[in-house]
Amino acid sequence: MNRREFSKSVLAAGMGAGVMIDSPVQAASVSGEYYEEPAKRLAVRKFDVIVAGGGTGGVVAAIAAARQGARTALIEVKGYPGGTVTEGGTALHSFYNLWKAFPGVPKRQVVKGIPQEIIDRLLKVGGCTGHAEMLEHYNYDSVCTAIDTELYKLVTFEMLVEAGVQVFVNTRVAGAIVDGRRVRGALGESRSGREAFYAQSFVDCTADGDLCAYAGAKYSEPNDYPVCNSVGIGNVDIEKYYEFFRSNELRGQLARGLRSGQPNLIVRAGADTSQINVPELAEAARAIGMSFITTTVHDNYFMFIKCNLKLPVSPTDRDAVAKAELELRRRMARAVELFRRYIPGCEKAFMARTSPNLCIRRGRLIECDYDITHEDVIEARHFDDEIMVYGFHDSAPRLQIANGGTYGIPYRALCVKGLENLYACGMMITSNHDAHMSTRNTVCCMGQGQGAGTAAALCAAKNLGTRDLRYPLLRDALLKAGVYLEA
Ligand SMILES: Cc1cc2nc3c(=O)[nH]c(=O)nc-3n(C[C@H](O)[C@H](O)[C@H](O)COP(=O)(O)OP(=O)(O)OC[C@H]3O[C@@H](n4cnc5c(N)ncnc54)[C@H](O)[C@@H]3O)c2cc1C
Repeated sequence: MNRREFSKSVLAAGMGAGVMIDSPVQAASVSGEYYEEPAKRLAVRKFDVIVAGGGTGGVVAAIAAARQGARTALIEVKGYPGGTVTEGGTALHSFYNLWKAFPGVPKRQVVKGIPQEIIDRLLKVGGCTGHAEMLEHYNYDSVCTAIDTELYKLVTFEMLVEAGVQVFVNTRVAGAIVDGRRVRGALGESRSGREAFYAQSFVDCTADGDLCAYAGAKYSEPNDYPVCNSVGIGNVDIEKYYEFFRSNELRGQLARGLRSGQPNLIVRAGADTSQINVPELAEAARAIGMSFITTTVHDNYFMFIKCNLKLPVSPTDRDAVAKAELELRRRMARAVELFRRYIPGCEKAFMARTSPNLCIRRGRLIECDYDITHEDVIEARHFDDEIMVYGFHDSAPRLQIANGGTYGIPYRALCVKGLENLYACGMMITSNHDAHMSTRNTVCCMGQGQGAGTAAALCAAKNLGTRDLRYPLLRDALLKAGVYLEA
């Protein structure tokens, strides 16, 4: 059976519907017996800073810590760095304020530093659209910065090595060694065995807050988002795709930027499923939680189309996730079939890549010293200890940051409650759902990474706890490293 026939058979069997099928991936029931694991002597590796998770925030945290002179280890379970920025989304929201939605407000790049360096490096190898201006729907984001996700993995890996980070890929953080309120080590597991990684300071960038949870931090699991897998679709005509939306008078999205090395080509197009006025297509897309908004850095390729699924339980539940993994693969096959059937220029579309596992928008929520509120975000509040400023909200234009401005991420929002030398960074902070719809986005996670990694290195150098670090010292280091801190 070829790929096309396979998709047809999947559709004919009705597997694209929004139902989770139990049988194929059900876990065997727990037996009730227990096995006592014998104690082991583990080899110890010693560092100043350990960053758990080499994703969106973790890459930046590790580079930042190493550049401060800290002996830094990055522990990443996959074979490459990058995380959800290479697997989930469509564009990096956002290096800029929302200036286009507020006439008279000046355009400002509000996230710089290492995140911008990554973009510069990607541009050199043809792996980024640049900060392409949004021409339609610019009251959501005023720019579209899309990346070649494979080059992102390579470029960031090289940057980590150049900075002197010891990168332990294919290694899972599987536990924590804790002395009272201090984390002494992280346990790592790989094919080389189980090891203890000691350090003075730790940054948890695992998205799920694995290290925090192992270390005994307080957390909750709000389960307030659908899970998703994102499919890259090859063999598509991007101009015809845009024309399909335009000719159906859909209020869509549009940005023009660098594509396959040529300027001023479409790099973002599409519309929300709710706006699709081809009823049969809209209904079929809704059934698989599919969005039509996509970006690209290359001709003939869409990166990505997202298929969503709401789990009944938190995505930390392995068995629920197993079922969802299968269901999402069915949905992605269905999505490509819909492209072929309904969208001109996509008649020969195929699945070019999928994420290795489903992506989450929130797993564990880790309790920190400060919890960024909805009002902090939309009223553009600033703090006397901020490590970055940010100006994007994923619910815009419904919820926007006041007057196209920015709010601050305070340092204390990263300090894990109850522990002395551990930072939380990325999608695991911010309990309020609407506020999280801002702080969880890629560029915010990257900026948090630079703040947390820098702070971890400064603490390690003086053997300080996170709460003993003087903010002016941190601010000075961030400014020297090119971080933008103007309100
Ligand atoms: C489907 C989807 C679409 C999105 N779309 C967009 C978008 O278009 N634009 C945007 O700006 N944002 C988008 N987001 C949000 C954004 O991508 C994420 O919130 C952000 O990338 C999370 O960054 P992070 O550093 O917290 O985690 P991640 O980037 O997920 O990094 C976590 C890393 O830790 C590793 N890891 C996990 N557990 C362990 C462990 N125990 N040991 C070792 N390593 C571990 C993982 O492999 C991963 O590399 C989207 C999110 C999702 C899920």
